[in-house]
Amino acid sequence: MKKVRASMGTLGVLGLELVEMDTPPTTAYLQIYTEKRCNANCLFCAQAKGSSAELTHIARGMYMPVGLGLVVERLGMAYERGYIARACIQTALYDNWWEDTVYLIRSIREKK
Ligand code: SF4
Repeated sequence: MKKVRASMGTLGVLGLELVEMDTPPTTAYLQIYTEKRCNANCLFCAQAKGSSAELTHIARGMYMPVGLGLVVERLGMAYERGYIARACIQTALYDNWWEDTVYLIRSIREKK
């Protein structure tokens, strides 16, 4: 996995996107990067296998694909400086979802 998806607010806090924010998030909102759709197929969800919506959308938010190494690097810096306190990771149900999720968590924890 060379990419991860991150919310626009998260990218703003990490200095990877220009975002005007009254209240920057202290939680990094991430999603596993995959082009596969989720087998759970919830009707309201853009990630569902029955949906044709953009995979960059989750609910009302946009989660843009970014290089995993860059995000992990910036997360470490933001954590050390007190901007980010935790990470929230969303995954989806597809082949290898567990392995990809564990890989992302390990990548973040090893950088901390
Ligand atoms: S990503 Fe979550 S909400 Fe969306 S279809 Fe899968 S289980 Fe349902």
